[in-house]
Amino acid sequence: MRRISIFGATGSIGQNTLDLIRRRPGEFQVVALTGASNIKQLAADAREFNAEIAVTADENLLADLKKHLNGSNIKASGGSTALLEAAEMPADWIMSAIVGAAGLAPGLKALEQGTTLALANKESLVTAGPLWMVTAAKSGATVLPVDSEHSAVFQALLGEDAATVERVIITASGGPFRDWPVGQLARATLEQALNHPNWSMGQRITIDSASMFNKALEVIETKEFFGLKSNQIEVIVHPESLIHALVGFNDGALMAHLGAHDMRHAIGFALNWPNRRDLPVERLDLGRIAKLRFEAPDETRFPALRLAREVMQAGGLAGAVFNAAKEKALDGFIAGQIGFLDMARIVEDVLTQMSGTSGHIDAAVTLDNVAQTDHLARIRAGEAIAEQAKKG
Ligand code: NAD
Ligand code: MG
Repeated sequence: MRRISIFGATGSIGQNTLDLIRRRPGEFQVVALTGASNIKQLAADAREFNAEIAVTADENLLADLKKHLNGSNIKASGGSTALLEAAEMPADWIMSAIVGAAGLAPGLKALEQGTTLALANKESLVTAGPLWMVTAAKSGATVLPVDSEHSAVFQALLGEDAATVERVIITASGGPFRDWPVGQLARATLEQALNHPNWSMGQRITIDSASMFNKALEVIETKEFFGLKSNQIEVIVHPESLIHALVGFNDGALMAHLGAHDMRHAIGFALNWPNRRDLPVERLDLGRIAKLRFEAPDETRFPALRLAREVMQAGGLAGAVFNAAKEKALDGFIAGQIGFLDMARIVEDVLTQMSGTSGHIDAAVTLDNVAQTDHLARIRAGEAIAEQAKKG
């Protein structure tokens, strides 16, 4: 039996992963499942899959978790050290699907095992791409992308010579505000931002899709994962979201990957790799779909993509600043403290402030430096949010 662990098991990616595991009884032995505040779900999943251990990131909820696991022989633990310990438990396949920068440290720890790691947590590559890739190379781990665009690129590259790749094009749905004028965007509500036209995902990535911050993170993720130059990566808005990415080769050929909007596709590919196996996803009926549309992204209304290019240009710890400021600004938007367009403005402000010598963004990309930079960027973003909230 393959031993597997899922970090962020209670989230959207985690639940889709468990859905695939559930369909193949007797094939997998679940080692660790982790979550944060949704203790009921975590305990129910740990019981259903007879996990060795269930871990909550929130130490204060450990007593509650223990209560829910009462009478079982499943171990329970809580807090950030417990997450790291779970990442050290030997497993053949580990899913990294915690949301945000919080996924970096446990992901790196899991990577040190030299096992197969399915990477949904794009923030790992955005905040610490070089560190991540070096750790993977040292340990001999196999990292498989789970973001749909990156899984698509990975699949288009199978059997190809990386030196013949000219460019990679990742698609963006354009989100719920694709056609909205700037004036209307400024007044966009949380509820409207959560109304994604194609994909069903966790709350945070859904809002990031509406603002294009998700695509901005993915551009950086593409650069780090596939070792490309920033000018080799393009974004195209494709409202149907059926082509996930295209790879352009030096003979002018473009290899596209198409599939339904279902994350079980990319998760299943990573789970079954290096084989392909039947997956419970919709088969596309191209006659019914009839049309695929494409349009260039509008960086005036969605400045996140421009900021991503600046971050790649700056390199070093700029990705950690970008991600942390974005996470904090997103908290501010969710809490109703700032408007939709304020998010990009605040991230740009923090990037500018921290690009000076005081920001130390050219320091080495180590876990400590990333953590310090992340902390400082959140403070700066918090100040900017407070100022903006005062202005109203
Ligand atoms: P989600 O919000 O649905 O779930 C997040 C998971 O992380 C939950 O299990 C939660 O308990 C856990 N978590 C939250 N805060 C934590 C913390 N501080 N410490 C430890 N654990 C914590 O998120 P999601 O949509 O499943 O996304 C997970 C990751 O996958 C993100 O990095 C996202 O960008 C990426 N991703 C998601 C999708 C998707 O379809 N949902 C697609 C591509 C990539
Ligand atoms: Mg994606």
